[in-house]
Amino acid sequence: MESIGVLMACPMSSYLEQELDKRFKLFRFWNVPQKNEFLSQHADSIRAVVGNAFAGADAELINSLPKLEIVSSFSVGLDKIDLNKCKEKGIRVTNTPDVLTEDVADLAIGLMLAVLRRICECDRHVRKGLWKSGDFKLTSKFSGKSVGIIGLGRIGLAIAKRAEAFGCPISYYTRSEKPNTNYKYYPSVVELASNCQILVVACALTPETRHIVNREVMEALGSKGILINIGRGPHVDEKELVSALLEGRLGGAGLDVFENEPEVPEQLFGLENVVLLPHVGSGTEETRKAMADLVLGNLEAHFLNKPLLTPVV
Ligand code: NAP
Repeated sequence: MESIGVLMACPMSSYLEQELDKRFKLFRFWNVPQKNEFLSQHADSIRAVVGNAFAGADAELINSLPKLEIVSSFSVGLDKIDLNKCKEKGIRVTNTPDVLTEDVADLAIGLMLAVLRRICECDRHVRKGLWKSGDFKLTSKFSGKSVGIIGLGRIGLAIAKRAEAFGCPISYYTRSEKPNTNYKYYPSVVELASNCQILVVACALTPETRHIVNREVMEALGSKGILINIGRGPHVDEKELVSALLEGRLGGAGLDVFENEPEVPEQLFGLENVVLLPHVGSGTEETRKAMADLVLGNLEAHFLNKPLLTPVV
């Protein structure tokens, strides 16, 4: 397989990079200064693209690689891949489902606790030596708060199970009601937001779910409501979120993802009811290794004409 060209879209895992380098002819796209020149020079040898949540394969890249057979994403989300173009051209697509579910769900619960109990602010309070001048103010309880989840897929369900263990009543919104769950279904995001204290975004990013959390949803969640986003930044209308938080129309937010990563609205930096994370939902040693092994397994299966491990297209 050493002669098969694999284009890695951006840096994502040094282990994956090393293993790809051992097995294939690896091209690191981020190191290429003249991208168009490079593509016309190597287009005939590149048969695979490895992308992630930040860079994948858009129509332009796919069109410039006539020998492309497979796009293997180091992510479960597929929003950086032009799936229709892949289908049209018979290009296979794989992702990394399941192996990251627990980590992302754990982090969602961590964000709920951090926002409500002001864990990060408490830590800053101690580090700044402020404890000596007085106790930290009282915060808000997490156990028992009602949790509404947008997207009851693998991650949404794992969040629901964890929140249930904290005594939280669970409700959700998806395009259709799930038959195998007792969680309360709301047929619209606004209804879900009106009926929960913590709203979690855990759905896939598609043209329909872009800004699924808009001003109306934030108004419905209200001045005591907490928004948790571990989906994708564009799920939330960020300008509206910033003004809702600054004006106190929303109670708080725990955000792992942002509209223009790694740019984060600086107006949020001074707010103690907001916890900001640098898109680390799946960012543990164990999970990133498992994700890398899935990418490698899918590529090897494809080039050995075996069934793909986690096929999407
Ligand atoms: P999944 O099992 O495919 O679940 C996706 C869910 O999205 C399903 O419940 C689906 O429900 C719902 N959905 C799709 N379109 C919708 C729409 N128009 N309106 C409402 N709900 C919609 O995927 P997963 O493994 O749980 O992953 C979910 C997402 O989490 C990923 O796509 C990714 O963006 C994000 N993620 C983030 C991180 C991070 O680091 N923060 C890590 C991993 C994943 P229906 O089809 O029934 O509507």
